[in-house]
Amino acid sequence: MLHKIQFLAFTTALWIIGSGSVRAQDALPSEMQPDTPMAEVDRFDFLVYNLDGPLPLTDNPANELYHGIWNQGATFSYPNLQLPDTLAIDLRGYCMPTPSSRINDVFGFRPRRRRVHYGLDIKVEKGDTIRAAFDGKVRTRTFNKRGYGNYVIIRHENGLETLYGHLSESLVRENQLVHAGDPIGLGGSTGRSTGNHLHFETRLLGTALNPALMFDFQNGQSTGKQYIFSRKTATKEVQSSAAYVKVRQGDTLSAIAKRSGSSVKTICKLNGITQKSIIRPGQRLRVR
Ligand SMILES: [Zn+2]
Repeated sequence: MLHKIQFLAFTTALWIIGSGSVRAQDALPSEMQPDTPMAEVDRFDFLVYNLDGPLPLTDNPANELYHGIWNQGATFSYPNLQLPDTLAIDLRGYCMPTPSSRINDVFGFRPRRRRVHYGLDIKVEKGDTIRAAFDGKVRTRTFNKRGYGNYVIIRHENGLETLYGHLSESLVRENQLVHAGDPIGLGGSTGRSTGNHLHFETRLLGTALNPALMFDFQNGQSTGKQYIFSRKTATKEVQSSAAYVKVRQGDTLSAIAKRSGSSVKTICKLNGITQKSIIRPGQRLRVR
């Protein structure tokens, strides 16, 4: 009984904290599919792009890196593709998707949401022009009521795919070639969102990278000419701060790993348990 009261008090406190000031960002709770988080890979590849001039826009951007896979209309799903160990991502020729410098929510694990936030939430007004971050080809332009709302995904020559979510309107069509700075949508709050903002993601082969490593919204510029992606650092960043989750009814270690952006192996190690250990509802597990 005491336990139940404590739990109620805890959730009420959370509710009070959570209902304080509502910023325009992704709504919670979210059952949004995070797609392919932090793929476990164990192979190396070292790819460096030509840094002598801007990457030309072709009809098949980064085709080699994506092994010819062009999953038009899909979100991010590359279960069979391996992340390179290192990759120099060319940032030249970028355009800030919005001149707004107000970040409403950063990238990373959100204990309150019990999930990873795979992008940046940038404050925009409804109807603000949202622009392509680099030259590229529109892979997906669709609508998801429970998630990103109206959203656009563009693949770029530098290997990145960028996603622009919660648009009030998309202005491009699938397979369209766009140049950096071309208007691709209008700011909005469609889908699971609490107010007008741009949810902006930068992904490499489906793995979310912190956009702030490449785009400095506060100063309205890229962080440099290139960003050196390292598989190790990218995985660490999402896992950097210690976090705990409460086991739900019917939970499995793999379900917990999936929604917290962790792995079964990590959870076992952090909690001194094995994959065969029995976990109980209400139990707290450290996930990073
Ligand atoms: Zn967001």
